[in-house]
Amino acid sequence: MTESDRGDTATSETLLEVRNLTKYFYERDSITDRLLGQNPVAIKAVDGLDFDIGRGETLGLVGESGCGKSTAGETLLRLQEPTEGVVRFDGENIYDLGSGELTKFRRNAQIVFQDPFSSLDPRMTIGETVRQPLDVHNWPRSDGNVGVERSDKQLRTARVKELLNRVGLSGDQFDRYPHEFSGGQRQRVGIARALALDPEFVVLDEPTSALDVSVQAQILNLLNELQDEFGLTYLLISHDLSVIRHICDRVAVMYLGEIVEIAPSEEIFTNPRHPYTEALLESVPRVNIDEKDRDIETLTGDVPSPRNPPSGCRFRTRCPKIIPPADVDLSQEEYRAVVTVLDRIRGRELDVEGAREFAAEESDGDVDDATVVDSILTRMLDVDLSAQPPHRERVREAVTAAVEGDWDRAEETLSTYRSLCEKVTPELQPGHTHPAACHLLDQPDDVERAIRDAEATAPDPAND
Ligand code: SF4
Repeated sequence: MTESDRGDTATSETLLEVRNLTKYFYERDSITDRLLGQNPVAIKAVDGLDFDIGRGETLGLVGESGCGKSTAGETLLRLQEPTEGVVRFDGENIYDLGSGELTKFRRNAQIVFQDPFSSLDPRMTIGETVRQPLDVHNWPRSDGNVGVERSDKQLRTARVKELLNRVGLSGDQFDRYPHEFSGGQRQRVGIARALALDPEFVVLDEPTSALDVSVQAQILNLLNELQDEFGLTYLLISHDLSVIRHICDRVAVMYLGEIVEIAPSEEIFTNPRHPYTEALLESVPRVNIDEKDRDIETLTGDVPSPRNPPSGCRFRTRCPKIIPPADVDLSQEEYRAVVTVLDRIRGRELDVEGAREFAAEESDGDVDDATVVDSILTRMLDVDLSAQPPHRERVREAVTAAVEGDWDRAEETLSTYRSLCEKVTPELQPGHTHPAACHLLDQPDDVERAIRDAEATAPDPAND
């Protein structure tokens, strides 16, 4: 992967290089499970991230809940050990650091957590909370400074008061407890604590999502000011695009453990290239009345489980632009609906018994399989396929097989609708503007070859 594949940093000097960062958690991995012959199941929370962050830059990591953003943030701070990958901070791989160097790294790289209500210890005063990192790192002696006229404790107290004042609180509040503060004030305490050791890099993990909207803006403005004043570099993790737009120089869009698009902030908002980014932007409420009738292509369904991510493009189970096989003459909307039925059959997720009970309640008695099939099709298909008789019949045939319990036949019946998006994995590839991973865009040569092979071996629906 080249420099431009990862999106150029907004500043000339790179502070953080992330290469193939991967973090899997394992289920069924205990000794008992092994004795019972169970194989471990990998939960692929973060799967091969590549990006750089320039010194003084703010990179936003955006995506829906459960896409692996926070795990990525914690792993690149070494709060969790990676499964694979390298993170270089100032040129040093942080996973190779010995204890002394790791302590130095921890001073330099801090985190502000999402929830200001649970991230502060209720038994400690806010002064003690902000002072804690200074105590742990034996500041200022660890910097080679020893107070002549004042003790370490006096120097630390003075430092804490200075920080509290700087984040918009007051040094006089040193002895007060977290419960005496509002959410916004507690988040200011969290920021003061993160800055206590004068770090270069801070991960901001959803720093405003637990706060009221008016307070969110104040905290974001404070973070902006502190960045300028202390020369900080930020990784801002958020699901909220308005927060990202407010503060970030560049944005990496994450879906199910992978980065699908990375670009300067303005570029993402004005010229998104990946269908997932487009859908995220579409789902942002608009205040402009001129746009009240706009055709919104919002995201449907949930992010699939990282235990068993979809093959090929991970977004394909929800993508409104999924690519149909060349011989399938359906509209995009119709094709999306048919593929959704296929995916549900493949996952054995059609609720046949639920549909049977529902249909029985409706008709006040026992129902035959054909009625259950009708019930499933009415509830599942959000498009009318009556103008497409062959396709409608094939979908009906597949659902009938599923209702009869023959899932393999059901899956086989719809196999001709398989998209190349599920057969070949797209890669982040720089296009005419910035990198995005989608088969609708230019792809590297090996991916293009795989696409041609997949197309050459695809069954022809006409011969089916
Ligand atoms: S590769 Fe296919 S499924 Fe994935 S985003 Fe592009 S069009 Fe959608």
